[in-house]
Amino acid sequence: MSGVAKKMQVFAEKSSWIRKMFEEGARMKAEFGADKVFDFSIGNPDVPPPAKFYTVLRELAQNEQPGIHGYMPNAGYPFVREALAKRLGSEQGVQFGINDILMTCGAAGGLNVLFKALLDPGDEVVILAPYFVEYNFYIDNHGGVPRIVPTDQDFNLDLAAIEEALTEKTKVVLINSPNNPTGQIYSAAALQELGQLIDRAGARFNTSIYLVSDEPYRNIVFDGHEVPPLMNTTTNAILASSYSKELSLPGERIGYLALHPDMAGKEEVIGALTLANRILGFVNAPALMQRAVMQLQDVSADNAIYARRLEVFCKVLDEAGIEYVRPKGAFYLFPKTPIDDVEFCKLLADQKILAVPGRGFGMPGYIRLAFCVDEKVIAASAPGFKKAMALAKQ
Ligand code: PLP
Repeated sequence: MSGVAKKMQVFAEKSSWIRKMFEEGARMKAEFGADKVFDFSIGNPDVPPPAKFYTVLRELAQNEQPGIHGYMPNAGYPFVREALAKRLGSEQGVQFGINDILMTCGAAGGLNVLFKALLDPGDEVVILAPYFVEYNFYIDNHGGVPRIVPTDQDFNLDLAAIEEALTEKTKVVLINSPNNPTGQIYSAAALQELGQLIDRAGARFNTSIYLVSDEPYRNIVFDGHEVPPLMNTTTNAILASSYSKELSLPGERIGYLALHPDMAGKEEVIGALTLANRILGFVNAPALMQRAVMQLQDVSADNAIYARRLEVFCKVLDEAGIEYVRPKGAFYLFPKTPIDDVEFCKLLADQKILAVPGRGFGMPGYIRLAFCVDEKVIAASAPGFKKAMALAKQ
């Protein structure tokens, strides 16, 4: 018997789909060889970081200036936040100051800091299904309650349903664009309306409701799509992002939060965020990585690779007769399953294809396919998808 909290046991069960696929993948790779398994279960960027990252890292490693690896202001180095403020200013069309930005341990660290700073016990966070499953845990970490609202049939915002879900307890509406798992990007018009309805609800309940956009996939886009700016939607807008996908550095845990420069009560919010960063035990985002990304604002990994993989994958699915909404960004497909999603994943696994059932993202009847593998692997999975479809139809 262990002393593990009952809640953690429940959480482990809730997050079990990706873990189960991961374990199944490891087992199959050991049995059949890694090159014989089509593992589309994990969203771990495999594109190398840009060459400049290594140059910058080598230079930084040689710097023996005293204090360079020491503690710093909990919000991050002022000169790093200044560089980011400049870049985000041109991306978002507003002028950020360094005190509008907090450097974090990835987007995941940023969201935890945010919920710690904003949520009182029982406060509600609206999340949209299908969702990145970790949101539920982050919200719970800080005493909040997820309020799940489905998206429409194309995975776009259902604004009426979101408006209906807002109550006097709503603190945050959390969106993710480009989306994991659907690849959807919300339009500028939909975001404008979302900002307005959030402001209306805040005025009606006499509360502050924040529109938080989690955007680590912002620069992985297809077919000329763009992610519209968030900051012209409401002054209660907060951006959470990271370099995990942009620079292909997810293990280095470097990201940021950016607040709307005209947010009401902004000093209090940034103060709470800074304290949360410290007392959650992050203390500050990693010093070395802050210095590195400061010099990498103008480069990214070769994310065009994902667009080529998307073409190959769409062809594979089309030929197998599998229906999907074409993603606009990120590196996932979220196709419909012809039978129960778990059963379909089992048929795929028999073909050595690993996918995650949609119910792991709060949406049964779909599967998530991550294309963080070489396009040759994607192309070679075609007979397996066809076979699984034929068996599903029997
Ligand atoms: N948000 C979404 C939607 C993600 O898919 C991920 C990682 O896969 C994260 C946040 C966490 O990213 P980071 O590595 O920046 O913490």
